[in-house]
Order: sequence, then C-alpha cells, then structure tokens
Amino acid sequence: MSAPVVIIGTGLAGYNLAKEFRKLDAQTPLLLITADDGRSYSKPMLSTGFGKNKDADGLSMAEVGAMAEQLNAEIRTHTRISGIDPGHQQLWIGDEAVAYRDLILAWGAEVIRAPVAGDAQDAVFPINDLEDYARFRVAAAGKKRVLLLGAGLIGCEFANDLTLGGYSVELVAPCEQVMPGLLHPAAAAAVQAGLESLGARFHLGPVLTHLQHDAHGLQAHLSDGTQVACDLVLSAIGLRPRIDLAAAAGLAVNRGVVVDRQLQTSHANIFALGDCAEVDGLNLLYVMPLMACARALAQTLTGKPTAVSYGPMPVTVKTPVCPLVVSPPPRGAAGEWTVAGSGQDIKALCHDAEGRLLGYALTGTAVQEKLALNRELPALLA
Ligand SMILES: Cc1cc2nc3c(=O)[nH]c(=O)nc-3n(C[C@H](O)[C@H](O)[C@H](O)COP(=O)(O)OP(=O)(O)OC[C@H]3O[C@@H](n4cnc5c(N)ncnc54)[C@H](O)[C@@H]3O)c2cc1C
Repeated sequence: MSAPVVIIGTGLAGYNLAKEFRKLDAQTPLLLITADDGRSYSKPMLSTGFGKNKDADGLSMAEVGAMAEQLNAEIRTHTRISGIDPGHQQLWIGDEAVAYRDLILAWGAEVIRAPVAGDAQDAVFPINDLEDYARFRVAAAGKKRVLLLGAGLIGCEFANDLTLGGYSVELVAPCEQVMPGLLHPAAAAAVQAGLESLGARFHLGPVLTHLQHDAHGLQAHLSDGTQVACDLVLSAIGLRPRIDLAAAAGLAVNRGVVVDRQLQTSHANIFALGDCAEVDGLNLLYVMPLMACARALAQTLTGKPTAVSYGPMPVTVKTPVCPLVVSPPPRGAAGEWTVAGSGQDIKALCHDAEGRLLGYALTGTAVQEKLALNRELPALLA
C-alpha cells in the first residue's frame, strides 16, 4: 500500500485540513496522529465553559471514532511523535518508523510556564486544550477564589467567564494595561473597567513569585509585596509554537516552523499550519488564518499548488461584559491613532499618513461598526 498523508495533531488545524482534503480526495490513505484523545472540539469555547456551565464532555463535539469514520482516516491517539527523518520520508514514534507521502505539522503551541517558588506548583493550571480544561474544572469544583496569571486575550476571557461562573477572580500581570500589544490603551481601559464591574480585581505590574499552601487554601506572594489568598491559579501567560522536533529534523524554524505561502517547510513533502506555523513571517494564533491555510493546503496536497492569502483578520474577544473586536495594525506599519467615545464605548482607529485605515479596536456599542470598517482594512497577506 502507498504511504499515507500524515497529519500530526487533531486540533482545529489538523481536523480542518483533513476535512478540506477529504472534500477533494476521498481515497488516499490518511493517518492522523495526536498526543491527546482525539476528541473534536472548538478551542475558543474553552473560555466560555464556566458561563455556560459546560464541562469538558459538554464542550466536546465528536469522539475520535466518529471523526475517523467521517474522515475515512486512521487516527492514532495518545501517541506522541518523537522525530522526523525527512531524507527517508518517515517519522518516529519512539523506535517505530512510520512512512509518509506528505507530512503535515499541525501540532500547535505549548503553554509557557512561569517559575514560581513555594510548595503549591500542583495548584497552577494552564488551559490550552480540552484535557487541560477538564483538569481545571475538577480542581475548581467547590472552590471560590481563582488567581489568574496573565492579562492577555485569554486571561481576560477567562476572567469574564469565571466571574460568570460564580468565582471571585484576581488577575496579576506584569504590564500596565490589559492586552498590551493588541489593544489601544483606551479600549484596554474599557475592558478592564467592564471586568472590574463584575468584581474582578487587577494587580497590573507585579508577577507571582511564591505560592504556598496554607490552612485556608493558597497564599500567593506578588513581587510588589502584595499577598493574595486564593484556592487555585489559572495560568494564561502565553504560548510558544512547538518547533523543537522540526528544528531537530533540520527544518527552518524561527518563532514558528517556517513555511512559504504554499505552507511548505524548508523540506519538500513537509508542510505546517495552525499555531505552530510561521506563514511568510506571520505566526498568528487564531482560527481564521488556520482555516485559510487548511483550504489552500488541501488544494496543494491534491495536485493544485495553491498559495494562501489572508484578508483582514479581526478578532472578536469573548468578554461579553465589554464586547470587543480588535484588528491590530500590521506589524511594522506606521500609523496615527484617533480615539472617539467614552466609558465602555470606545472606537480607536489607526490610519496611515494617506488616511488609509490600518487597524482598530472597538468596544461596547462601537462594535456595531466592525463590518463597515472591515471593508477598509488591509489584507494581512495579499
Ligand atoms: C482559551 C482559548 C480561547 C481562544 N479563543 C479564540 C477565539 O475566540 N478566536 C480565535 O481566532 N482564536 C482563539 N484561540 C486560539 C485558537 O483556538 C488556536 O489558534 C487554534 O485552536 C490552534 O489550533 P491548532 O490545531 O494549531 O493547535 P492545537 O489545538 O493546540 O492542536 C495541536 C495538536 O497537536 C497535538 N500534538 C502536539 N505535539 C504532538 C506530538 N509531538 N505528537 C503528536 N501530536 C502532537 C496535540 O495533541 C493536538 O492534537 C483561543 C485559544 C485558547 C487557548
């Protein structure tokens, strides 16, 4: 039998590529390999589960058997690949060699863990997949106070969701505003005020240095001397694209696995998409880019080489207390910001010297203007 097309990872990138591939090719053997249980789920929903009172099973969309049937594919679960041998078109699972026709890396990004002293490392939980979410739900059952590390998009979404789920939330992050690098300060202030109106408390500036069990739960020591009593810690301080196995195999890597507009790595027959991929210099950890990549790559894998293009890619942030849509200006683009509105309703627009819209941040009622503004935004990869 001919070697299969092999996809590493069953997140949104792996499964969406498999679906797009099967629309064009029903027969070529397809093998998916995943380190997790292979359940299909929508990762963005992980930061809405407490508000909707959904556990991990409630967020799961399909079991692995149903996915294998739907995709006419073999799916190997709880299986971690340990190496790639591009010269022989095979990969390694321990000492088992698996041949591939084409290999697609859709293995995502891993959570960054902050070094914290003290005896309570076991009470620090990241959430970057359904299994993480299941563990956190179990740990949070019957508890009340969550210390959240990180004030980025995911930290703010969990702050909103956990308060909706009845938890008291304190958030600590070494930055001056929420979502630095993504949001104009006026929009950041609106989101922070919204979260504070739900009872969330912010410690912006310090980091967590020491976490200790005590008789009442946990005692968290921050670098500014503040102490916070809590029951568990949710860590959302960032993600790092997985590049180590690719680098060890001699593939070009930078922030992510380096691929061209056809999603091809520096080696023929090996491609990458999703959180792990740096596409023409862009490593975007969002759903819209990976969907565009899945459609283009499916064409390429079925004999029609196709370059991916990205239109504007605004992100809707799930902070319902203060609706937010953001489209940051392309990296390196020079522009001037203008801010209109007040309180929860902020419209921050970034224009270049010729008056063209480069990006925006819209909060509250200003979100209604997104469709009109999207028509003016530049494409991220034309
Ligand atoms: C809480 C949260 C909320 C989000 N909300 C939004 C949102 O609202 N909008 C948006 O656009 N984006 C959002 N994102 C980002 C978006 O969900 C991700 O960009 C996307 O899901 C990444 O998909 P992926 O398939 O590339 O990676 P993953 O889903 O991480 O999948 C990686 C896969 O690779 C497997 N794997 C890893 N290493 C190996 C190995 N060595 N061998 C075998 N298998 C391996 C894993 O088991 C997994 O199956 C959110 C992210 C989070 C965490």
